[in-house]
Amino acid sequence: MQDIQNTGGADKGTDLKEQNLDYRRQLSSRQRIVVKVGSSSLLHSATRRLDYHKIDVLVRELSDLKNRGKDVILVSSGATAVGREVLRRTGAGNELAEDSPITVKQACAAIGQARLMMTYQRFFTDYNQISAQVLMDKNTIREPLSKYNLCNTFNELLKFDVIPIVNENDSVATWEFSIGDNDNLSAMVASLLDADLLILLSDVDGLYTDDPHINPDAEFIEYVPVLDDHLLSMAKQTTGSESGTGGMSTKLQAAMIATQSGCDMVIVNSRHMKVIHEVVQGRNHGTIFRADPNPSFDLQDYIESLG
Ligand code: GLU
Repeated sequence: MQDIQNTGGADKGTDLKEQNLDYRRQLSSRQRIVVKVGSSSLLHSATRRLDYHKIDVLVRELSDLKNRGKDVILVSSGATAVGREVLRRTGAGNELAEDSPITVKQACAAIGQARLMMTYQRFFTDYNQISAQVLMDKNTIREPLSKYNLCNTFNELLKFDVIPIVNENDSVATWEFSIGDNDNLSAMVASLLDADLLILLSDVDGLYTDDPHINPDAEFIEYVPVLDDHLLSMAKQTTGSESGTGGMSTKLQAAMIATQSGCDMVIVNSRHMKVIHEVVQGRNHGTIFRADPNPSFDLQDYIESLG
């Protein structure tokens, strides 16, 4: 990591800073944009209930991108967390813990996914947009026929100017088929759809040279021109603070999938959802991983290699 940002003296550091700013100025021309939002970005941390203000701003930002003529795809977590909260409020699930058995989580996801979609549909309707639900798992991409059907559905939705809202089909995805975290899922969607930009909205600011909660000398990294093995291996020790399933390690796996598929990726803090248009305008927020297309990268082979 140090090799990327800081070694090579001040000149190299300045050079990278300029490259970063130059590169970010090009983001406004990106046409197909996938935005991923994690559960913790949608909920009030104290109550675990939906933060309608944040959802409203998120939906407004996406609707505005759509009105600017962009293709917009939202990958949203939150089904399990929302379902758990719904059950708690009925009194039936007062004991529900975050580490409940998979069967309970699947039931929560079934309840919460419907609730989440109802909420999104209401907000998107307010902004005069049509949204649609797409649920998938690893097997949907692995099986050629379901992958074909999935891509057709996405393409038709985008042609009709609809905003697809994607989540893993948690109620039916047994662990063999489960992608498990929406960081990777969003990168797979970006790869399948030849997206130009993936924005991961998170409760972390981006990538540091080390865990900033543990190491006060950890430095923030604004720009990653090439995602090398050194960086990927460092991520294993850097988990981030997000309360969903994705830490920094899943975000870097997502960056690998996205950048090798020719898509830029930005990790950015979702504290203020208006950050979405600021990133697209080229403002220097979060960490950007520059697209680095690898003609030999094959999404299906990669998924097979995960086992
Ligand atoms: N698909 C899960 C849900 O909606 C979330 C996965 C994740 O935390 O990334 O509850």
